[in-house]
Amino acid sequence: MRARARQLINTADIELWPGGLLRGRSNRDARILARAQWVLRRKRDGRYLAAELPEGLVALVPALAAEPGIDEALDALSRHGPRLRMGPEGALPLSGLESRLEALGLDADGYAERTGLALVPEPVQLQFAGMDRFRRPLWLDSDTARAWQRMQNAARADGIVLEAISGYRSHDYQLGIFERKLERGQTVAEILAVNAAPGFSEHHSGRALDIGTLDEPPAEESFEATDAFAWLTGNAGDFGFQMSYPRDNPHGITYEPWHWCHLGDPA
Ligand SMILES: [Zn+2]
Repeated sequence: MRARARQLINTADIELWPGGLLRGRSNRDARILARAQWVLRRKRDGRYLAAELPEGLVALVPALAAEPGIDEALDALSRHGPRLRMGPEGALPLSGLESRLEALGLDADGYAERTGLALVPEPVQLQFAGMDRFRRPLWLDSDTARAWQRMQNAARADGIVLEAISGYRSHDYQLGIFERKLERGQTVAEILAVNAAPGFSEHHSGRALDIGTLDEPPAEESFEATDAFAWLTGNAGDFGFQMSYPRDNPHGITYEPWHWCHLGDPA
């Protein structure tokens, strides 16, 4: 069997998913996706746009040529091709995000000043890091994926199960949450009390992970009472992970004992 690529290629509006990870929502899509080397997926709503098959590109939407960002995505596809080599690590430009924040009525500069947080660019490439608790593919930057797998194995050797709840999330994903809540009549201030502003989440970098454990609800403060949290507190630093939002953190972000960020491998 042909070895499949294990990287997600990122562009401003469209992600390129390696074949074999996505399921079709119709029989036709399922047949096409089963043979796809790459699938082009709209970031904003997850819609499948096109599939790269051995014989060429097949559109999965009626107006593929008019799709925003399609040229950039096809460029990336031709650069990486079916035989992907690990490209240089890098980040996508932030242009576009700022004007979209403004359109939502979100004052990015004011938010940055108030929280001490900076805009976080998305990586151009992400590494497949296994499945998360919900059986969805987990994407992380390549260093973080390696460190996570080593840390998870070390915990397991100590009898501790660490589960990934959430890894990389795109700007578009977070913008989509905001847009849906605004449509339902919530104000920006109300949404910001619960959700990080799009562009400012550590999850955009591919270096942050929400971690859970067996029989424990995801992303709840009660995680701090688990053996898994005690293990992380004692050992995560050895793998380069640090809890980003402890109690009374200077960013004014709610205490998140489940959220850990990879800051690089310890010296
Ligand atoms: Zn998180």
